[in-house]
Parts: sequence; C-alpha cells; structure tokens
Amino acid sequence: MSPAAHLPGVRQIAAQVNAGACPVAIVEAALQRAEADQLNAVIRVYRDSALATAAEVAQRVATGASLPLAGVPVLLKDNICYQGHPVEACSRILTGFVAPYHATVVERLLAAGAVIIGAANMDSFAMGSSNETSCHGPVRNPHDPNRVPGGSSGGSAAAVAAGIVPLALGSDTGGSIRQPAAFCGTLGCKPTYGRVSRYGLLAFGSSLDQIGPLCRDAADAALALAVISGHDPLDSTSSPLPAVAAAPTARALAGLRIGMLELPDEGLDPAISATLTRARQALEAAGASLVPVRLPHDRHAVACYYIIATGEAASNLSRYDGIHYGHRCQDPADLEEVYARSRAEGFGAEVQRRIMLGTYVLSAGYLDAYYLKAQRVRRLLVQDYATAFAACDVILGPTTPTPAFALGEKIDDPLQMYLNDIFTIGANLAGVPALSLPAGHTDKGLPIGLHLQGPHGQDEALLGIAAAVAAVL
Ligand code: GLN
Repeated sequence: MSPAAHLPGVRQIAAQVNAGACPVAIVEAALQRAEADQLNAVIRVYRDSALATAAEVAQRVATGASLPLAGVPVLLKDNICYQGHPVEACSRILTGFVAPYHATVVERLLAAGAVIIGAANMDSFAMGSSNETSCHGPVRNPHDPNRVPGGSSGGSAAAVAAGIVPLALGSDTGGSIRQPAAFCGTLGCKPTYGRVSRYGLLAFGSSLDQIGPLCRDAADAALALAVISGHDPLDSTSSPLPAVAAAPTARALAGLRIGMLELPDEGLDPAISATLTRARQALEAAGASLVPVRLPHDRHAVACYYIIATGEAASNLSRYDGIHYGHRCQDPADLEEVYARSRAEGFGAEVQRRIMLGTYVLSAGYLDAYYLKAQRVRRLLVQDYATAFAACDVILGPTTPTPAFALGEKIDDPLQMYLNDIFTIGANLAGVPALSLPAGHTDKGLPIGLHLQGPHGQDEALLGIAAAVAAVL
C-alpha cells in the first residue's frame, strides 16, 4: 500500500474546500508534513505565502467561487518559476536567484485555487535519473530509505508518495516524471509536447521538456492537467489544442487495442516482467485485444536523445554566465575568467558533462555527423509511433527496466544511469503523451510502474485508459 493512501487526494480536497472546509487548516497540515520531511524531498517550505494564499482561497470560496483546485497543497519542482520565490534547479550556479515572474503553470494553479507550499528537490537542471546530482543531496525513496526515488523529479514523486502533498509538478525531458513516479509508486504524466506551457520552466532540452503532474491517480492527473494545460501565447511551441478535459474520457477495456512492444531479453527485472504479464492477462480477460506493434527506430532512442538533449542543454545553459544569474566567482582577473570560473564552480559534474557533450555535437565539424543525424532518426521515430498508433489505441510496457536502485549504485556509471530511461525517452522524442501507472510491488515492497503511451494530442483518452487499466490491476 502506498504510504499516502490514507490521505485525501486532489479531488477530495477541492470538493471539501468548495463545500466550505477550511483551506487554511488543510494547508497548515501540509506545511507541517513538509517541515517534518525526512526524505529530503522538500528543499524549501513557503509557509507565509502558502498561508496567505490559503486565506485568499477561503475568501474566494466564501464569496461564491467554485475553484477546480480549491485549497489543494502543491509542491513545484525547483525549475518552475514562482514569482518572488527562489528557483535554483538544485544547482549552485543559481544560488540566490529569485523568480522574477510566474510560470504560466503557476499563474494557472493559483487562479484555480491551488496553494503552493514549497519547492521539491530534483537532479541539478533536471539531468539525472536518481536525484543524486542535486546540490541539496539525494532524496530518499519513501519505500526504502537506502534507495533512490528516481529522477529528475525525485522530490516531487517522493513527496506525493509519502503523503506530504497530493499533487506535485515535475518536468519530463526523457522520463523525469514517469521514472520517479514508477520508483515511488505514484502516477506521473508527461503530456503531449506543447500541451502545457513551458513559459517559466528553466529550460533543459526545449524540444523535449514538458511539465506534468505527479499525483495519486488518473482522475487527479486529469483535474490538474485541465488547469495547467491549454494554449499559451508566451510559449512559441505551445499547442493550439484546447486544455485537457477535467475528467478522463471514460473508456471500456472491451475492444481496446493494446499495443505490445517486443521487450529486450536481458536487463528487465523479473518482477517487472511478471507484472506486465499479469497486466496483459487481466486486460485480455476484460475484453481488450493485445496487438504486437513495433517501433523499429526505438533502439536508437537513447543515443538520439543524448545528442539532441545535450545539444539543446549546452545552448540553453550558456545563459548562466556568472553575470546575469546566480553564482559569480570571487576576484576574477578578467571577463573570460568570470565566465570560466563561475561556470566551473557553479555547475555540477553531470551538468558539465552534458554541456561538453552538447557543445561537441553542435560544433562545426560534427554537426552533420551527430546533431543533424539524430534529428533525422527522431523524424523516423515520430513516423514509427504514427504507424504503431494506426494499429492500437495505446502502447503498454514497463516504465523502467528495474525497480528503485540503491543510493550510490549508478552515480559513477553514466551509461548505466542513462539506460534507466530506455523505455521513456521515445515519447519525448516523438512528443506523444505518456504516463506511469502504479502497478504493485516487488517482494521487497518496491513499487513497479507500467508505462502507457498514447497518440499525439490524446491526453484525455490516455488518462481514461489509465483509469480503466488501473481498475483491473
Ligand atoms: N534521466 C534523463 C536525463 O538525465 C531524463 C531527464 C529528464 O527527463 N529531465 O537526461
């Protein structure tokens, strides 16, 4: 059972507050849980602004407003701008930087009556799969304190799983919402690219980054997504699609075509493969049909991602120059030293590795061989997904090859760390919506996540299918 199972979720809280329950008391309880956090999931608690916002929500409800997220305590990953509050992407280079404006998602959360109670730990600049690259140190997995929570949205996932908040926002560039959701036993959803505005999200890989919810179930995710999604003129890549519907599209399993990918023979944990087999059987018993599908270029996805994502990151992170934001080195001899030393002191080892890789793949002599080639492979993968979704309504697989691994186990082996995202990266490259659904535990009590990927733009259908699948697991 999830440690948070006894606490009310997003829908219950909003319903209670809209019916007259006091949001201040609800937020006070969440603040106390955040302040007592033993997992290092919460890196900053915004007590004063949270209580003030809760009092405002009480006022708005008292004067007749019905707010979709009335009084719901929320944590933001530390890469989402909340005006007047620090935003540091858990990197020393941004120490002391205060968000000058609200991210669009924050603007929308506040308008909907949500109460932001603090910031969640994450891998530095969202680069990592274990939360171990954070300048605040790792988060502990609520199911086993010696294990990682996953990453990069590790604090968001752990906080939801531990019952600190019913909803946290994360960001997902290659799996960073879904992999920690799987490791911690929560639902985590990466929307269709462009469906949620990236305005006010500290950029990592701009063509891949999406903000999304981590919460208890598909209905809570739909409610959160309904609030934060929808076109935003402040994000030039924002989709013209309307906001996601506030409830998942109800979907019967009978007649549903579930795409099954061929899985690698090696590297998949037996407990995860047994969970997948059981899920397939349950779905077939409920009338769904299992359809074999192929994504022929998916085997290149990890390589392709580590070229495109690092190229974009090297370019995005060039703005952290020691002058405009955050950390500046002491007593530099000249301007060049300001840049070089501020960046060397401020960025952690993994971020530096990505910047070097990205600079290399974008450099004049290698652009064609690496970056442009990866872009062409990405195009083929987009076509693979379109072909697969002509034959099925959803693709079902594991979210991760293994359950949560031990703290320290992979941090010195970048390739092993990168392979964590082998099942999740394809959805980012193709821009399709995908989510991780809690699907039981290993015999050591570690959560297992199942991965559902849907056709482009069909986020509400995907959430509906997730709800239907969850009901038979
Ligand atoms: N683990 C992947 C990486 O380190 C994905 C990160 C993410 O989705 N932000 O790049």
